Amino acid sequence: MPPRGAWPSLPPVLELRDITHHYGRLRAVAGLSLSVGPGEVVCLLGPSGCGKSTVLRLAAGLERLQSGRVAIGGRVMADAANDVPPEARGVGLVFQDYALFPHLDVLDNVAFGLRGGADERAANARAVLRRVGVEDQAARFPHVLSGGQQQRVALARALAPEPHVMLLDEPFSGLDARLRDQVRDSTLHVLKESGAASLLVTHDPDEAMFMADRIAVMRDGALVQLGKPVELYSRPADAFVARFFGETNAIASRIERGGAATPFGAVPSKLPEGSAVEVLIRPEALRLKPAGQGASGRVIAARMLGRSSLVHLSVDGLNGNPLHLHSRMPGRFLPEEGSRVAIELDLEQSFVFSTG
Ligand code: ADP
Repeated sequence: MPPRGAWPSLPPVLELRDITHHYGRLRAVAGLSLSVGPGEVVCLLGPSGCGKSTVLRLAAGLERLQSGRVAIGGRVMADAANDVPPEARGVGLVFQDYALFPHLDVLDNVAFGLRGGADERAANARAVLRRVGVEDQAARFPHVLSGGQQQRVALARALAPEPHVMLLDEPFSGLDARLRDQVRDSTLHVLKESGAASLLVTHDPDEAMFMADRIAVMRDGALVQLGKPVELYSRPADAFVARFFGETNAIASRIERGGAATPFGAVPSKLPEGSAVEVLIRPEALRLKPAGQGASGRVIAARMLGRSSLVHLSVDGLNGNPLHLHSRMPGRFLPEEGSRVAIELDLEQSFVFSTG
């Protein structure tokens, strides 16, 4: 393989082309294509059972490819005529359960897959343990480590042979919430410094937004949308993606004169006149002010949630029926229960999708 510095001029490091995979009659992956560049972190995101792990296992060679192509560094690893075994693909793997060897200490777990003499392997393993921040655990055995330490050792073991591709399957889901934030943060730094192309599977949109340069959203085995986190959040391709990235208020409407009517004014849309639509509005797009002119709502409840406050509102719908909507305001914003507030709509966070 060429030296690291040569990667930018080469094809994407990991290239999955038109992959389809069946388990018996179940189609788990449907025509998926995806590339991960050098030093890039791409998250495969989607609900449980949508085929994420299968894609990762096919990339690793843990599952036999049925249709399509897997290439790494421009070299075909699997297609109709080729099937390079996992250990010869130059990939580092991290799984949810870490899969450490219980009978080896931490240093030997990491040194296991390395080349060279015993001293050289130990020195290299120690250097990687230092990079991930668990060098002081080198002589301990996996079962006495905390979950966070085990995760770091698993990461070190995967990174030690300096793979060009890192494949991580739900690597943080065994950790409790607080620790998870820390471990995600340090893992991101280590992955970025390694320069490897990283593909990370997660079902958690917050995790994907935190970790990813680009997110690939999957549903029923297919790629629904691929883009930077900000693109997916602010320009979701469909209602599924919009909902997946966070809470939305849904208002049924119809296109009239180039927009979907809402109690807060029309949201522009290029959908055909007369189409039945659903307007999805993020809670942070409903901006509240002291009651005045324009649209307003009655406060049902207001709760401070930490960095923001959530206000439950009752708003008169266009057909006269009341709508129960959520507004999220930054910081502490706690209007009186039963009071009226003015509502301004941020069109940037309001999306119109056809329901016809
Ligand atoms: P995800 O990682 O998104 O949860 P998976 O790739 O694990 O999804 O699974 C996709 C679909 O394939 C699911 O319906 C799952 O039950 C099925 N599946 C996964 N692995 C196997 C297998 N070895 N045999 C049969 N069905 C499988």
